[in-house]
Amino acid sequence: MNTARAELGAVRLEELRFDNRYGRLPPAFYTRLAPTPLPNPYLVAFNPAAAELIGLAPEEAARADFAEIFCGNRLLPGSDPLAAIYAGHQFGVFVPQLGDGRAILLGEAAGAQGRWDLQLKGAGQTPYSRMGDGRAVLRSSIREYLASEAMHALGIPTTRALAIVGSDAPVIRENVESAAVLTRMAPSHVRFGTFELFSSRRQHEHVGTLADHVIEQHYPQLREAREPYLELLRMVIARTAKLIAQWQAVGFCHGVMNTDNMSILGLTIDYGPYGFIEAFDRGHICNHSDDSGRYAYNMQPRVAHWNLYCLAEALLPLIEVEAAQSALEAYEAQYEQHYLALMRAKLGFATEQPDDAALLQDTLKLLHDAHADYTIFFRCLGDFDSAPDAANAALRELFADGAAYAAWAGRYRARLALEAGADAERKARMDRVNPKFVLRNYLAETAIRKAADERDYAEIERLMRVLSRPYDEQPAMQAYAEPAPPWAAALAVSCSS
Ligand code: AMP
Ligand code: MG
Repeated sequence: MNTARAELGAVRLEELRFDNRYGRLPPAFYTRLAPTPLPNPYLVAFNPAAAELIGLAPEEAARADFAEIFCGNRLLPGSDPLAAIYAGHQFGVFVPQLGDGRAILLGEAAGAQGRWDLQLKGAGQTPYSRMGDGRAVLRSSIREYLASEAMHALGIPTTRALAIVGSDAPVIRENVESAAVLTRMAPSHVRFGTFELFSSRRQHEHVGTLADHVIEQHYPQLREAREPYLELLRMVIARTAKLIAQWQAVGFCHGVMNTDNMSILGLTIDYGPYGFIEAFDRGHICNHSDDSGRYAYNMQPRVAHWNLYCLAEALLPLIEVEAAQSALEAYEAQYEQHYLALMRAKLGFATEQPDDAALLQDTLKLLHDAHADYTIFFRCLGDFDSAPDAANAALRELFADGAAYAAWAGRYRARLALEAGADAERKARMDRVNPKFVLRNYLAETAIRKAADERDYAEIERLMRVLSRPYDEQPAMQAYAEPAPPWAAALAVSCSS
């Protein structure tokens, strides 16, 4: 009865079927604790698409107690709140103990589309808070909410966001801000750093238990494998290679690719000072706190590989070092293959030609030298008229150096001549892979300012709607596809959230 209603997306909050398999792991994996109450919570945003994943009826968001529940003031029946422990390499330095310092896992809600961890981010201090206050600010909660749903709509694996609950409780960052709790959803929140914790403590039995848990719950196809742990590493490498290729292709910069922010499921997780590249710069650093550019855009593929080494090392109690090494060697080719395939599609090529990689590099050089808008360039490229005398004025306008553009356009035209289809067919294909709308920093900032200064949450909704169909033309929403206005030049995002 309940199951059927969950499938219809019709269950009430009290009817959510909670389980917490993570909570059945040994006590060394977490600390059970309740969220810290948040004064006078109110609903800021609710995402019916995420609610549908767990079968929750969208009308439930209108309940007077919805905000109380999703800031952790009131616990749903069956939830089993806990903070998970992990470790991780932060900016290349191993930190032996981290953990959910401000996130509390309520448990897994089972819906028609599998089981989803429901985690309250910003729900108060935990034993892993270190010097932190256990809170999240409204600004960063809106940023995570919008980005995770934008990434999902772009087809990039990510955690999801169910709701934001706000409170006027002050939270001190560089300035005084107000508190919020984001309800995050993912099939699992296990990180590379979770393995690193037990491995560095030489608690090898826990490394095995965690690997078994991950395989059992999330990689069931490996249960019968001859070398399940090695296969697990291989799967994580494969998923990570693909994920990073997707990030690079869409121009997403994570900003803090520490190993505790790397998902064992290959999801984009822990949105902080992220950014979508606007004016193209290969070495773009989106995180203002990243002085050395360790996590610059063009470093992401290598950093992911480095992070996978950390994971492999943590798995050494379970696998042979040579096998781990050869698994890691596969990463680069896998990444390159995914990236080139994605970029070929963005360039509108249905065939593979030997010089494609070189043409791609030269295209990126053209963009880099001109600081051309990455998203606008590729969207505009869909309209490229391949006739020899075509002006392609809109594209041409993106480049101050006319000669460099003309030389490139000539090569691009020659390459298109090797394709069979007509321009219109190519455009239709390109529009399905070159988004018109990405979450530009200033768009998020506009929604944040309206929410923080005027308690106006309509812009969050509007932006979510636009970003949920990034490949559609949406002519009425043209303003959301425009480059940043001058005031946005002063925006900077940092680790503070
Ligand atoms: P991040 O780089 O944002 O993923 O955070 C790194 C670690 O710091 C994680 O273990 C977080 O749980 C913890 N952390 C971040 N902000 C806070 C906070 N305000 N209070 C407590 N812990 C925090
Ligand atoms: Mg983190």
